[in-house]
Amino acid sequence: MMTMINTPTTRGKLLFDVSLSRYNTWGVGGNAQCVFHPADIEDLSDFLANTDKDVPLTWLGLGSNVLIRDGGIEGIVIITQTGLKQIRFGGEHSVYAQAGVACAKLARATVSKSLVGVEFMAGIPGTVGGALAMNAGAFGGHTWHNVSHVDVINRRGDIARREVSEYEYGYRYVKNFEGEWFVGASFDLDLDELGTKVVSIKELLAQRAQSQPIGKKNCGSVFKNPEQGYAAKLIEQCGLKGFVIGGACVSNKHANFIINEKNATAEDIEQLMQHVQDTVRQHCNIDLVPEVKFLGNKGAA
Ligand SMILES: Cc1cc2nc3c(=O)[nH]c(=O)nc-3n(C[C@H](O)[C@H](O)[C@H](O)COP(=O)(O)OP(=O)(O)OC[C@H]3O[C@@H](n4cnc5c(N)ncnc54)[C@H](O)[C@@H]3O)c2cc1C
Repeated sequence: MMTMINTPTTRGKLLFDVSLSRYNTWGVGGNAQCVFHPADIEDLSDFLANTDKDVPLTWLGLGSNVLIRDGGIEGIVIITQTGLKQIRFGGEHSVYAQAGVACAKLARATVSKSLVGVEFMAGIPGTVGGALAMNAGAFGGHTWHNVSHVDVINRRGDIARREVSEYEYGYRYVKNFEGEWFVGASFDLDLDELGTKVVSIKELLAQRAQSQPIGKKNCGSVFKNPEQGYAAKLIEQCGLKGFVIGGACVSNKHANFIINEKNATAEDIEQLMQHVQDTVRQHCNIDLVPEVKFLGNKGAA
């Protein structure tokens, strides 16, 4: 049964019964009952303050680390990428980015000011909010390493500032933000006056293009690397490169990537993930843990 949604007035955009396939990089998933694009942070706060508290909320950045199931998402899906996109520099070493800022944009903006610390974000196709929620990382860097504080919002629309010490984080996880969502973060960076530390974003992107299936619908690494090694290597050892279920396929270029090759459904991808997990467990006695987050309900595609 659908939730009754009485939406308050907003300066943002509300869409009803919308396909979520265009809101994630795999290009799959059913419909959202309601999608909300806040106009800005004040609009988001007012909207939450005046929305029934029993309506389920789901947050999405650029949908580059989620598997949205075919039955869609009940309640309201909040999209940060349109209204929360301010970047502000403060002092010589600090930058504040709202949750909807694209990671690549933040990387480029900081490198252009000779600031070092978040340039690894250049190749991460998500938002700052998603990077905080996942502790996204690459090339030895990770999101929380340079965060000095974050701003969060709760179900009532109250905004609060939180210190990094209030969270526990590690490889692709952050704990202690239940009931709150990130609306922005301040990063403390190093000023590279001599120009010896700033790396070329072009070089970072070229490195990724060599090993990743660029231009195909995917969600990055599907599984976390286990303690025993690289997930991609284990999947490849099991002979799963190129393995297909429905329209979904294990990438031939990078075995920890699953490609939506031919109009895959979310169910195809989920079944393929299950097959990969079963096979790796059987052959290597290792449990692969998904890095991607599952959202929504199973159901007809
Ligand atoms: C080609 C490719 C390469 C990638 N490479 C990397 C990589 O090198 N390193 C890496 O770590 N990841 C990588 N990823 C995965 C992904 O880009 C990151 O995890 C990214 O941080 C997700 O951001 P997003 O905005 O797309 O989040 P989404 O996918 O939209 O959401 C991810 C999770 O965060 C939650 N969330 C989103 N916004 C907020 C918010 N404001 N507050 C609280 N929760 C929120 C969502 O509910 C969901 O649970 C890659 C993905 C692709 C497609």
